[in-house]
Amino acid sequence: MIAVLEKPETRPITPLSPSGKILIFSAPSGSGKTTIVRHLLQNNPNLGFSVSACTRARRAHEQDGKDYYFLTLEEFRTKIAQQAFVEWEEVYANSFYGTLKSEIERIWAQGKHVIFDVEVHGGLNLKKYFGDQALAVFVTVPSLEILEARLRSRQTESEESLQKRIAKFQYELTFRDKFDAILLNENLEEALLKAQELVSEFVNK
Ligand code: 5GP
Repeated sequence: MIAVLEKPETRPITPLSPSGKILIFSAPSGSGKTTIVRHLLQNNPNLGFSVSACTRARRAHEQDGKDYYFLTLEEFRTKIAQQAFVEWEEVYANSFYGTLKSEIERIWAQGKHVIFDVEVHGGLNLKKYFGDQALAVFVTVPSLEILEARLRSRQTESEESLQKRIAKFQYELTFRDKFDAILLNENLEEALLKAQELVSEFVNK
């Protein structure tokens, strides 16, 4: 079943009409990107959150159409065939996530800029797609020890999953120089201010 979702080497891409800007926040898990994106959305009514499509199970507190568009594997596969995605990734085994073109158009039609919370490969693919229209920010923590402490304090991870996330962090860190900006989240207050500065400067230029 999953083999059907394998990516061809070159996927055809239909450009979207350029209006509005694209703000991409990518990070290894535990770096605080979701907190930063939520803060930016609260403080900037001119930003709209890009709701991704995904195939993982909905968590109890999540709403379809607000947190994600929850799709079956079959529905996700159909959308790939229709070229409905700007990008998609198998983020975890059998869990597919992707950005729908219709989502970006929906937000731009409201006269807003689009903000994304995506993992590192998705972020880089979005940057490649939108070029100078996009600001790609890599959010990171000062050290592996701090990341581990944060993940442990969440108490949501098993030891195995924690070790996987730490290994993934080291891998994802190797991509940081491909981003337009690196946002170090050592102190959350400072990181929020810096994120706001980056967004304001990019949106107003
Ligand atoms: P979660 O299942 O914890 O909500 O998300 C898992 C990971 O998938 C997170 O790093 C999240 O940022 C990423 N993600 C969410 N939406 C998308 C998307 O549309 N594309 C990609 N590539 N990753 C996504």
